[in-house]
Amino acid sequence: MNSTRIAHASLLAALIMAIGARSAEFTVVEKPQTDPPNTHYPGSRPPLMPTPLIKLPVGAVRPDGWLRRQLELQSKGFHGHLGELSAFLKKENNAWLSATGEGEHGWEEVPYWLKGFGDCAYLLGDSDQTAEARLWIEAVLRSQREDGYFGPRPGLGSTVSSTTGKYDLWPNMIMLICLQSYHEVTGDNRVLDLMRRYFKWELSVPESEFLPPYWQKIRAGDNLWSVYWLYNRTGEPWLLDLAEKIHRHTANFTDGIPDWHNVNMSQAFGGPTFFWLQSRDPKHLVASERNWQTIRQMYGQVPGGMFGGDENCRPGYTDPRQAIETCGMVEMMFSCERLLNVTGNPVWADRAEDVAFNSLPAALTADFKALRYLTSPNLIQSDRGDKCPGVQNCGPMFHYDPYSHRCCQHNFGHGWPYLVEHAWMATPGNGLAAVIYGPTTVEAVVANGEKIRIAERTHYPFDETVELTFSADKPVRFPLYLRVPGWCAKPAVAINGQLQSVSARPLHYLRIDREWRNGDVLRLTLPMEVSLRTWTNNHNSVSVDRGPLTYSLKIGEKWVRAGGTDRWPAWEVYPTTPWNYGLALSENPPSSFDVIKKPWPANDMPFTPENAPVELRAKGRRIIEWQADERDLVGPLQDSPAFSEQPIESITLIPMGAARLRIASFPIASSAANAHRWVGPPPSLPFKATASHCWHMDTVKALKDQRLPGNSNDQSIPRFTWWDHKGTREWVQYEFDQIKKISAVEVYWFDDTPGGGCALPESWTVLYMDGSDWKPVPGAKIPAIERDKFNRAEFDPVATKGLRLDVKLRPNYSAGILEWRIIE
Ligand SMILES: [Zn+2]
Repeated sequence: MNSTRIAHASLLAALIMAIGARSAEFTVVEKPQTDPPNTHYPGSRPPLMPTPLIKLPVGAVRPDGWLRRQLELQSKGFHGHLGELSAFLKKENNAWLSATGEGEHGWEEVPYWLKGFGDCAYLLGDSDQTAEARLWIEAVLRSQREDGYFGPRPGLGSTVSSTTGKYDLWPNMIMLICLQSYHEVTGDNRVLDLMRRYFKWELSVPESEFLPPYWQKIRAGDNLWSVYWLYNRTGEPWLLDLAEKIHRHTANFTDGIPDWHNVNMSQAFGGPTFFWLQSRDPKHLVASERNWQTIRQMYGQVPGGMFGGDENCRPGYTDPRQAIETCGMVEMMFSCERLLNVTGNPVWADRAEDVAFNSLPAALTADFKALRYLTSPNLIQSDRGDKCPGVQNCGPMFHYDPYSHRCCQHNFGHGWPYLVEHAWMATPGNGLAAVIYGPTTVEAVVANGEKIRIAERTHYPFDETVELTFSADKPVRFPLYLRVPGWCAKPAVAINGQLQSVSARPLHYLRIDREWRNGDVLRLTLPMEVSLRTWTNNHNSVSVDRGPLTYSLKIGEKWVRAGGTDRWPAWEVYPTTPWNYGLALSENPPSSFDVIKKPWPANDMPFTPENAPVELRAKGRRIIEWQADERDLVGPLQDSPAFSEQPIESITLIPMGAARLRIASFPIASSAANAHRWVGPPPSLPFKATASHCWHMDTVKALKDQRLPGNSNDQSIPRFTWWDHKGTREWVQYEFDQIKKISAVEVYWFDDTPGGGCALPESWTVLYMDGSDWKPVPGAKIPAIERDKFNRAEFDPVATKGLRLDVKLRPNYSAGILEWRIIE
């Protein structure tokens, strides 16, 4: 036999096989088929419904590029060092470190922190921080009681009294998620044992004592999720009895939204769909989408993937100046990631990305050394002043402060790590799906047990291309699913440089079933067009999108140190450029924007105004009537198009994730006669106002803001108070630019008694400035002091450049003023 001939024949056969295998098979599917099941990863175990996507264990997906940079910054930032800053993480006498569950700080803060801290350390391979996480995990494992309960003990002073019941299971719900991650990373079966025994204990709790209000009842969908996680690993049928019991006692999100707290909504709206895995009742499947739509329609007519929930949604407060809590953002992301897992519907990936790319980055300083509690789509100043009642939550909620904001401060850290962990998922049929895009590397088992590694190289969401490079020991055939985002009409795929013919549709998956070989390169292009969304329920304002990113006006930022320490400074941010622009749009609105691509930032941190790799150039006109309110919150929007005859200017838009001061919902500006004429706020009186003292949450500006109270305890308008001075002699004064002839003053006193500490004062007099002296006004007639009306004091006219009210406070009470008018 001719050996050359044999060689040729086998070469030919190999060639034919190779060609056959290399003809890629492309199909477009709504989601991966659930049959045959995945044989490598624990998905839903019967009788639970099979899921189209299966979460990979923590560590299978690693962050690269800019995503890794976020985790590194988090690790180096305040969250990675929160033990130095937070009293709740003090190890001395910490209930979470106690084998008997005794001690302090035994509520949500430790597990909130550990959730993100642990997973961040595992994904980065940081051995010191992994060891630190393990120290807390080991303590939890040691703390299990004979009957199965673990963690801080109720009734020993260790749990916060946030419940009407005997037990608060809420902090344990969070800790269970920490334990699951730890098990996925280490395979430590003590976690399974602890969970099994704890769930047995939960099953034994009498129905009448199980999951009473408040937080634990609303957030028990997390508990349910953990029960399924264990069931999928052990298959013990009684776990499904517990799952039913938990669902029975969880706040009812199946029939609507029972609670309007922003974090509760973000965390719990998807719970019914988790339970659908067991009930198979369509009403549970559809409830999450309906809840999401309800929230969006009522309070979410804004960009950034969130809604106005500061801190509870309030009827009438739907403007883009309403804010969301940082906890709300990360819980919304985690909900979307799990709903993606359960339903396979790619819309949940779009929604997770929306929050991650457009909202979350701005909640923190770019160095991850400080965070704020609240962030809004329209936000023109981020200071520590009180913004209520414009936003619901009083106090310094916009202050970038690593020492404050307790829940968010501990809880924010799971946002980025969990996003990475859900970027790739396993599929039935032993395949893989790229579901959330970003620079990552996935290592997973596919097909008949072969290992595959795929490196995803991309600057997504700033760039349109995603390049996947395959590493495998030998050729392996498996289905690969690529998510097509809702905003992408025409994705393109090239494999090893060969453009493929694909006709994928938005919110579908491109399924590629082929033999993948070491070194294969798949290039996915997701063309990004500029488009506009109109918020008809928010005065026809508009937001500008390009691909997954929404764009904000670039506002000059002045960062002012405001507290903290030199190592962990706190900040306020003030605008240095005008912000009250409406967009001047052309006939074809998307053509009003030029896309400017800039060099990729060398430090891999794209979420700053300077580093943003994409900008849009647009045209705008200022709308003079659009002003900040007396608390420096952006004034609410009015109808678009808004009339403006101001000159057309060139303006720059940057990704709203990079904009910590931002206008992301714009009015449309127009000089047409029929455009809407906006009404500005009442002009503040042009006097300089000062006081002997003013409570830091109140303002002397309130004296002269011409916002008139309805009664002496009107909490809806700004006020001035001398709080917390009590029983003292105090003053307020006006100074004028020029001499005024004044014959009377009118004072509207603040009084929040009973209940509050400010009462009508004991007495008051009026002084005027005579040269450099203050003298009593002559012939003063001071009437008896009364609530709920202006108190008018008349006197012989004085010509003066200043007027002062000299006020004696009642013993044990402070006092305040809602408005002070002068009569010329
Ligand atoms: Zn929070």
